[in-house]
Amino acid sequence: MNEEIAQLTVLQTIDHIIDSIDSDIQEEQDALDTKSAELAERESTIVKLTERIDALEKERRMLEVEVADEMIHVKDRQSKMMQVQTGREQTALLKEIEDGKKGVKEKEDKVVEILEEVEQLTADIEENKNLFKGETELLQEETEKVKKAIAAINKKKKTQEKKRKTQANKLGSQLLKKYDTLRSHRNGLGVVNVLGGICQGCFMAIPPQQYNLLLRGDKYFECPTCQRIMYHEPVEEEK
Ligand SMILES: [Zn+2]
Repeated sequence: MNEEIAQLTVLQTIDHIIDSIDSDIQEEQDALDTKSAELAERESTIVKLTERIDALEKERRMLEVEVADEMIHVKDRQSKMMQVQTGREQTALLKEIEDGKKGVKEKEDKVVEILEEVEQLTADIEENKNLFKGETELLQEETEKVKKAIAAINKKKKTQEKKRKTQANKLGSQLLKKYDTLRSHRNGLGVVNVLGGICQGCFMAIPPQQYNLLLRGDKYFECPTCQRIMYHEPVEEEK
């Protein structure tokens, strides 16, 4: 293998270690973010339940006012009954009284329904609040743990970054720039092996002539399909 490319593969190995460290950090952070989102969801549930209770209480107060009005009306009709003369007037008043009583009964039933719902909602809120309290404490503990874990991982990252710098200094700036660009555009893989004439970055065949030159090992080429820097290093079974 071309010496410079050999050094480049060493660099890529370090870069892959750094990539995996970064993904470890991301994983820790993601787990924490998921828990934070769950907690926010819990909080919003409590707010929604509280709003529902407020709306029900408002409705109940309105119903109670209506019931009081209706009862006054019924009493008024009842006292008027004494004064009416004809049967027709009596019938009309009786109907009004009956309708009024029916209305009162319906509204009172509705009030009872509301009270029951409020009772259930209040219990739900209580349960959610207890869960929220416990989950908040857990999240605080978890945040501390993740902070420490990330700090430890970052220490490892620093070590690798130092190694990377040393290794990068062994390479020509042009090749390094090319490699860095490839890595950022080609899924973290800038330099690839070619096995049996197939680029191990994009798994496309390379022209046989180019492959033969690559096998000689003194030069390096770019993959005609993915432009990655190619080298040839036989795997165990090929040796
Ligand atoms: Zn390729």
